[in-house]
Amino acid sequence: MAVDLHAHTTASDGSLSPRELVNLAREIGLSAVAITDHDTIAGWDEAVEAGDALGIEIVPGVELSTAYEGGRFHLLGYYIDRHSTLIETLKEIQTARANRNHVIFDNLRALGLPLEEKEVRAFAGPTGQLGRPHFAQAMIARGYVTTTQEAFDRYLADGKPAYAPKAVLTPQEAIAYIHEAGGVASWAHPLRSKNLTFPDLEARLQDWIGWGLDGLEVVYSQYTPDEAEWATKMQQQYGLLGTGGSDFHGRSKPTVKLGVTNTGGPVADSVLHQVKARCDAIRASQHSKP
Ligand code: AMP
Ligand code: ZN
Ligand code: FE
Ligand code: FE
Repeated sequence: MAVDLHAHTTASDGSLSPRELVNLAREIGLSAVAITDHDTIAGWDEAVEAGDALGIEIVPGVELSTAYEGGRFHLLGYYIDRHSTLIETLKEIQTARANRNHVIFDNLRALGLPLEEKEVRAFAGPTGQLGRPHFAQAMIARGYVTTTQEAFDRYLADGKPAYAPKAVLTPQEAIAYIHEAGGVASWAHPLRSKNLTFPDLEARLQDWIGWGLDGLEVVYSQYTPDEAEWATKMQQQYGLLGTGGSDFHGRSKPTVKLGVTNTGGPVADSVLHQVKARCDAIRASQHSKP
């Protein structure tokens, strides 16, 4: 049996609704799919309803945006309790984001580049979460810039005149919140970038393991062979749980197919069993605490 433990829906920046995603999972023969939208669990209920009807197991998940030492990192949380500080905190972060967007509108207006909120909203998904990529698209539509990259390079990137900071969790906070919510924390796709070498990534990994990180995404649609090899080596060396998934986004990331990873196929369902076992262990250790 095959699973996919990393997928997005219209609850964040995916193009398929939760129901459409579960239908697709069924079509391609997955037994389980994790709903891991960015910083929201709004896709869970519809996915579970569809999953129950089709006999597909839905793993309730989330992909948390974190910032650490000047870098941005994604942490996957699986089996989060919806009545938790984490979920309350995500709501607060969304409110903070809306306030931050008003600052970006003001900054652009001051630069002589006014935008109406509805122009930006036209490029956002059904949940209406606005981010800088949507501002960039509206700026292109107005003829202020010709590409998204130009919008970032001239106005929207950190340090540019329309930029406004946004609240983000640190990985330490994210791991603590995930555990407190009874869930399992896995570092999503640590990709080597021009700024971060493998030793840099390993140093971060060591810090996060110190904070209780459970797993590392060892199977991922966009790993290069050396990234995949590094991730597996780290997972084994540090005794981490090895998670995996496609990071499917539908049309928003057209080259990534649901259930297809760097191995050419999906993830074995034994991986899901390991995630569940870790979740049980986390919850048991919390109950045994005085
Ligand atoms: P936001 O959540 O509004 O801060 O937007 C974050 C998104 O903006 C990221 O996921 C990237 O897609 C995009 N982004 C951030 N920085 C840049 C940059 N310097 N150049 C192009 N895109 C960027
Ligand atoms: Zn995404
Ligand atoms: Fe991610
Ligand atoms: Fe993702």
